[in-house]
Amino acid sequence: EARPARGGYAMYTGGQEEQHTRRLALMGDLRHAIEHNQLLLYCQPKVDIASRRVCGAEALVRWEHPVHGMILPSEFIPLAEQAGLITPLTDWMLESAFSQCYAWHEAGLDRPLAVNFSAHDLRDPDLVERIRGLFSTWGIGPELMQFELTESALMEDPASALETLTDLKQLGTQLYIDDFGTGYSSLSYLQKLPVDYIKIDQAFVMPMTVSDDSAVIVRSTIELGHNLDMKIVAEGVESQAHWDSLASLGCDVAQGYHISKPMPAEQFRNWETSWA
Ligand code: C2E
Ligand code: CA
Ligand code: CA
Ligand code: CA
Repeated sequence: EARPARGGYAMYTGGQEEQHTRRLALMGDLRHAIEHNQLLLYCQPKVDIASRRVCGAEALVRWEHPVHGMILPSEFIPLAEQAGLITPLTDWMLESAFSQCYAWHEAGLDRPLAVNFSAHDLRDPDLVERIRGLFSTWGIGPELMQFELTESALMEDPASALETLTDLKQLGTQLYIDDFGTGYSSLSYLQKLPVDYIKIDQAFVMPMTVSDDSAVIVRSTIELGHNLDMKIVAEGVESQAHWDSLASLGCDVAQGYHISKPMPAEQFRNWETSWA
């Protein structure tokens, strides 16, 4: 049986066999959910640390299940990967993100929105062409749509990842290496990647104010990124203490609960008014 967990999300607590059954059922439900618009576009703001200005948002998917309630991507993205549903899910996210960006643009708010890709997307030979099509359909500039790729997804197939990233850069978009520090990429590979931002994983940011080891990793990642002409985003910024130490280390951008939790995309403009 599902019970509401912290934050109101349904968290499953049954045994292994029941979990397996639930996963199979959810895979079928997910296909239906993508086709019948049960997915939701959430956004979490990114703030420039030096100026405190909102500099963009990350697009995060949510699934409002008719029976189980809100399901988080940590549960259903792996299912989508196993069930071959990443392409339709990514396409749904792209369509929603372009539509939202267009609406903001029409309302006079130009905020880049960053969409997450899975490893599977990086091997999709048609992905970049579909994105090119979306830019021409919606008529928004390439600076308004960004893409986040985890370090570990890049490392699954470094050669084809590099090709996809190069094509995305040619469209004029900005790219992030996500969850940096968890994927064991080499310095020489990193140097070749045409990315604009490194996102330091929250596993390093959260403990940085209490653990010297984490603080050292955060500091050296900031230095490394800056030496490679990249900007640094810290995720998992949960407190003023996090903000202050990141500011003193010269980190560029902050994202986390201290600024705002992810929210339904249509609430973003109101939220920004209250932040400013
Ligand atoms: P991510 O890309 O690293 O996204 C950041 C995650 O950290 C989000 O979880 C966000 O809600 C959470 N977060 C942000 N700030 C804080 C904080 O201060 N404290 C804590 N404890 N958490 C914070 P979410 O939305 O549950 O997403 C989890 C992961 O699922 C994402 O990690 C990403 O890898 C994946 N994901 C989400 N949406 C998509 C999508 O549309 N496509 C793909 N392929 N993956 C997605
Ligand atoms: Ca991300
Ligand atoms: Ca991340
Ligand atoms: Ca993460």
